[in-house]
Amino acid sequence: QLSKRLETVASFIRPAKTFADIGSDHAYLPCYAVKKGIVTRAVAGEVVEGPFQSAKRQVASVGLSAHIDVRKGSGLAVLKAGEVECITIAGMGGPLIASILKEGADKLSGVKKLVLQPNIAAHSVRTWLNSNGWIIEDEAILEEDGQLYEVISSVLGAGKKLTEKELYFGPYLMNSQNEAFRLKWQRELTQIDQVLTQLSSAKDSEGAARKKQEIIKKRQWIKDVMNDEN
Ligand code: SAM
Repeated sequence: QLSKRLETVASFIRPAKTFADIGSDHAYLPCYAVKKGIVTRAVAGEVVEGPFQSAKRQVASVGLSAHIDVRKGSGLAVLKAGEVECITIAGMGGPLIASILKEGADKLSGVKKLVLQPNIAAHSVRTWLNSNGWIIEDEAILEEDGQLYEVISSVLGAGKKLTEKELYFGPYLMNSQNEAFRLKWQRELTQIDQVLTQLSSAKDSEGAARKKQEIIKKRQWIKDVMNDEN
């Protein structure tokens, strides 16, 4: 049984028939996508020996070694250019996902779709996509085991520049505002208020003042977005 989080990532892979899952760990996602007939072939990339071995074991144990190639290496280095139509990167921080894409830029030719699931700081992923010729075509946010997860699906092409707020909240997520979205930003507000309380008792310094201003700006953004029912 695949997690709801990875099932959501898988739901965005079509129409690609081949994909690479980077940082695949146990390779559950490639195994699921091949078994369900979503793709015909997949690559599972892993940089750490333990998860690499567990990916190989998993793929062999479900009899999919002919369809899923498990490779050891960092980021997109495990790929040849033009080899897959889609890349998924899930369960990492947004800045790490963005740096994997940046460093692997030469391997992106031929890739038509990126499905990304940043655990934190999703805005850094959206910012990379928006400045590097990718259009965000859909997004999802879901709750699982008390955690909130964002999934960003993007396709190659020239789109409009997203606003700072769209990069921060997600252009699709902020429009639809489902329960998980509201819960995420309610939590964020609570956290911001805690930080502001701490900062108010901290010694005045230029750094603290700047940080406070930045946080107050974000707090206002969240309030605006949540009150705007449209
Ligand atoms: N993608 C799976 C998921 O969403 O359930 C596993 C997520 S796990 C938290 C992150 C995995 O990414 C780890 O197995 C880690 O070894 C791997 N990883 C981290 N940096 C990587 C990199 N630069 N290249 C390939 N794998 C990486």
